[in-house]
Amino acid sequence: MSTLTIHPSVDAGVRKGTPGFTGGTLHCQCKSDKVEVRVESNVAHNHVCGCTKCWKPAGSAFAMIAVAPRDKVTVTAHAEKLQIVDENAAIQRHACKGCGAHMYCRIENRDHPFYGLDFIHVELSDESGWEEPRFAAYVSSVIEGGGAKPEQMDGVRARLTELGLPPYDALNPPLMDAIATHIAKRNGVLKS
Ligand SMILES: [Zn+2]
Ligand SMILES: [Zn+2]
Repeated sequence: MSTLTIHPSVDAGVRKGTPGFTGGTLHCQCKSDKVEVRVESNVAHNHVCGCTKCWKPAGSAFAMIAVAPRDKVTVTAHAEKLQIVDENAAIQRHACKGCGAHMYCRIENRDHPFYGLDFIHVELSDESGWEEPRFAAYVSSVIEGGGAKPEQMDGVRARLTELGLPPYDALNPPLMDAIATHIAKRNGVLKS
């Protein structure tokens, strides 16, 4: 039986967070001089995300991402190693130049629906107790990212459902897969 890899943090089962958890410290994956980000709050809306923009661990089809109030998120070490991945993106991803990990993702447009919330990856923290992921977003997009082939998507969705991560798409799955397959073929990610 083949085992589908969703994300290292959930592949062995989703571990519930601790009620009343008050935050922790994220650190990047460099061997030394790690970027550190202090988060003085639990997270909300934690989920796995299949989009092509979120930072993913090597070999992972999905990212895991959550939000925290931006005034609770502070870089506490090696801010000089951070750079914004795309200055023009609505969500500015502040990534470590050394290891590539996205340490926090911030929205500067006050008209954006998520303004005031930073997106963070709690797997970068050694603490446990963060609110657990509760759904899967942009599931179809793992085809575009090369994380799964179209014919594997039924299995991906079944695995997400089994893990308690209901899969969502902007449209229904067959339509979203068709759109993503088209893009994957056009950009060469999908060869056949
Ligand atoms: Zn780093
Ligand atoms: Zn995403």
